[in-house]
Amino acid sequence: MRTVTLPRRAFLATLAALALGGVAALRLEPASDVRETFYLFGTLVEIETHGVPERMARAAIARAGQSLEAAHRDWHGWRPGELGTLNTAIAAGRPQRVDATLAALLRKGRALSCASGGLFDPAIGRLVGAWGFHADTLPEGDPPSAAAIAALVARHPRMTDLRFDGTEVRSLNPAVQLDLGAYAKGAALEMAAAELRAAGVEDAVLNAGGGVQVMGRHGARPWRVAIRDPFQWGVVAGVSLRPGEALHTSGNYERYFDRGGVRFSHILDPRTGRPMQGIVSVSVLDTDGARADAAATALCIAGREAWPRVAAAMGVRAVLMIADDGAVFATPEMMARLEPAQGGYPAPVQIVSLPEDVTPPACPED
Ligand code: ADP
Ligand code: MG
Repeated sequence: MRTVTLPRRAFLATLAALALGGVAALRLEPASDVRETFYLFGTLVEIETHGVPERMARAAIARAGQSLEAAHRDWHGWRPGELGTLNTAIAAGRPQRVDATLAALLRKGRALSCASGGLFDPAIGRLVGAWGFHADTLPEGDPPSAAAIAALVARHPRMTDLRFDGTEVRSLNPAVQLDLGAYAKGAALEMAAAELRAAGVEDAVLNAGGGVQVMGRHGARPWRVAIRDPFQWGVVAGVSLRPGEALHTSGNYERYFDRGGVRFSHILDPRTGRPMQGIVSVSVLDTDGARADAAATALCIAGREAWPRVAAAMGVRAVLMIADDGAVFATPEMMARLEPAQGGYPAPVQIVSLPEDVTPPACPED
């Protein structure tokens, strides 16, 4: 996906104390960068730690990998599992108890969806399925008919239809089908980072197609990542991420299919039931990875007029947008963080300040 880590190499040796049979022995174990890759969420997930001995790093990465696998299984709306069971219950009009982590994730998704004015809305799973974007492979058939799309949109599935009683979830609308694809990766990377921290890792980068989460630093330097140029092989800019930050990019150039010269992206506008148009990519930098991921998706749909208000309402400040005519927009907060690639930006960056007077919409509390 859209973000790639730039080459970085710095090796550090540490002394690791190893207790052997009651006698403290000192063993030299180089604490270099340790890297592992998983295939999850339909993409490669790479975890790289810095500054911890290899054995400890591998154990920590394994633990983080398990939490990613659990998220993949439990938060998948299209396979048997926690979320699949909830989707079945919602369609049947029944409440369903879910585990506390999923309940918290759904509550957060509802709040973000409400703030976005419904542009980010994980309740539109039936539309995602109708377009065929629910599978790991790309759709092969024709786009759904206008009538089929209209019928699904007319049932108005929304995250704000969800109600919570502790960890029991119900929906006021049986047309809701949950597909967390637009923010699950951001949330899962945060969760995996917490696992790494619990296993003693302070400095790491987690990279999953279009999304990066960092912990700490890369030695004396920050972790540095690049935002890919959506039009060609290359880089739009680099960004040095501060400890705990995440950078998520969404766009129409990764998952899409072309029919009759028209590009159909996997990001759907819940108002029309049709793929986003006019925007090629949006990157959001934030201290909250799930929010950055959700906002990147929402701002793709908001488009070049409405995005500043939607960003402000969702609480994100650092945004970069590239439109399909090549125009590049950035908030001052993002501009301050961008490091132009060699040769400069692909187009002059237009600075857009976010409005200050955005009143968040009223959102359900329980
Ligand atoms: P990526 O696949 O690169 O992580 P996104 O974060 O933008 O991209 O998520 C896109 C996925 O989210 C789609 O594949 C679909 O499952 C789901 N989705 C599509 N449109 C929306 C939307 N408007 N709101 C919430 N989820 C959506
Ligand atoms: Mg997203």
